[in-house]
Amino acid sequence: MPLDLLLLGPPGAGKGTQAKRIAGEYGIPQISTGDMLRAAIAARTELGLRVEPILAAGELVPDALIVALIRERLGERDTASGCILDGFPRTIAQAEALDEMLAGIDRRLAVVVELQLTEEEAVRRLLGRAEQEGRTDDTPETIRRRMEVYREQTEPLSAYYLARSILVGVDAGGQIGEVHAAIEDVLERVRAREGGS
Ligand code: ADP
Repeated sequence: MPLDLLLLGPPGAGKGTQAKRIAGEYGIPQISTGDMLRAAIAARTELGLRVEPILAAGELVPDALIVALIRERLGERDTASGCILDGFPRTIAQAEALDEMLAGIDRRLAVVVELQLTEEEAVRRLLGRAEQEGRTDDTPETIRRRMEVYREQTEPLSAYYLARSILVGVDAGGQIGEVHAAIEDVLERVRAREGGS
């Protein structure tokens, strides 16, 4: 039975770090739209050129582009055993499109783990990352805008998944290992339930 997982949470919550570890442990691919877009930009593809200024401004790439990207990615064979999504969906329209795509292949999200972090701590982490990794969208202005966009467009997804009874919150304020252990607990419970049904 494929295991489809989603990590939700504000920029800076550690979605990418945690998704990578989970992907390795569960043998499922991590699908990060942020990584895919940055790869497209680095490779100077048509998509990359189109989205570069959008990422630099901290705005969202149009839903249609992102949904097409995910549709193609979910069609690849390595996702047959499931996947862990990080950074997608980011809008209600994207969440609805994902539900449809998964339903079309007779699948559904097993659980949505929300990494919970105060905005203050998230901003503090992003500013730290800006110095270390030099991601071009980790500037103070862009960070402010990404937080606004998160609040307006992505935060409503919590209620969307809560209404579907698949949302579980995890405190993302601790060390990487602590957060990882908390996510593991959630996933083990889900796996036991899925395996038993
Ligand atoms: P973070 O979670 O730190 O903001 P990401 O790597 O997930 O970083 O995303 C970086 C940028 O890529 C976003 O600010 C946005 O411009 C774009 N992006 C990534 N995923 C999506 C998505 N699902 N829909 C729209 N834009 C996206």
